[in-house]
Amino acid sequence: MQLSRRLFLSTAALAAVIGLNGPALAAGEVNLYSARQEALIKPLLDQFTAATGIKVNLVSAKADALLQRLKSEGRNSPADILLTVDAGNLHAAQAAGVLQPVQSAALEGSIPAAYRDPAGHWFGLSLRARPIMYVKGRVNPAELSTYEALAEPKWKGRICVRSSDNVYNQSMIGSMIATRGEAATESWAKGFVANFARKPQGGDRDQLKAAVAGQCDIAIANTYYLAQMLESAKADEKAVAEKIGVFWPNQDERGVHVNISGAGVTAAAPNRDNAVRLLEFLAGEGAQQWYAETNQEYPVRSGVATSATLRAFGEFRADSVNMARLGEHNAAAVRLMDRAGWR
Ligand code: FE
Repeated sequence: MQLSRRLFLSTAALAAVIGLNGPALAAGEVNLYSARQEALIKPLLDQFTAATGIKVNLVSAKADALLQRLKSEGRNSPADILLTVDAGNLHAAQAAGVLQPVQSAALEGSIPAAYRDPAGHWFGLSLRARPIMYVKGRVNPAELSTYEALAEPKWKGRICVRSSDNVYNQSMIGSMIATRGEAATESWAKGFVANFARKPQGGDRDQLKAAVAGQCDIAIANTYYLAQMLESAKADEKAVAEKIGVFWPNQDERGVHVNISGAGVTAAAPNRDNAVRLLEFLAGEGAQQWYAETNQEYPVRSGVATSATLRAFGEFRADSVNMARLGEHNAAAVRLMDRAGWR
């Protein structure tokens, strides 16, 4: 990895030195900055190379680090595509000016409008839901209804959720602001926070573990975490997951909160055409099925089967708010959560 990355950077540096603007030198490649685990994307990239002859140079790092890198590289960035999770992160990249708009009939035909930027700066490639999860036997699902109802006093000391500095929660609150407005969301958040069983800590998996351990009765977590725990080779993780039920909230109205993983073509992309081809490949039927199954996510494309583990959670109505709204309300969501005491 270290060696191939150095070679890749030196090729880009050479292109800059001799004044080539990419395409002539780099025809037949595409440079991907990815915030996803390599194992969850690499086999698909190999399939793309086998089908098209286009070599994919993969740079994997954390979402924030990749955005920083794109910003500091600016016009000289060798990157063609940024692949990351959460509409909040994609919107932040767009706002920073590191993505360019793309029009593609294939992408627009494959990906529902709610799951891509209206101007084409980014496209959703997989979908995750963030429903209410509960400990079976301790909570009767008939008592549950909406996210809004989690602010009721009967849930006092019974809720586990991760901290407000996590983008998943920021986007969830952003979606509520989009539907209910800021004032109503803030008064809800105060009641919700008052029901926390403990100071927010850990990731989504930790909320489920805490619930099963008796620290709380319900948690909010992304669907793939529960699905991955159910499929885990670790007996203790699997045992925790088997005690958790999934409740789809807000089904009579706006639907359960969903989010995407997605990608956009970078503003300086030296291999723009290849980048669009790779995005189109990732949105294609075969790739959608493999990607969704491997990550335990929902495909964005309709007509593609979900994994058996996800199917067992049942069908649900998803919030149809455009993913772009989540990012647009991010700053307001962060301030509101702070005022509500959500740390
Ligand atoms: Fe995650």
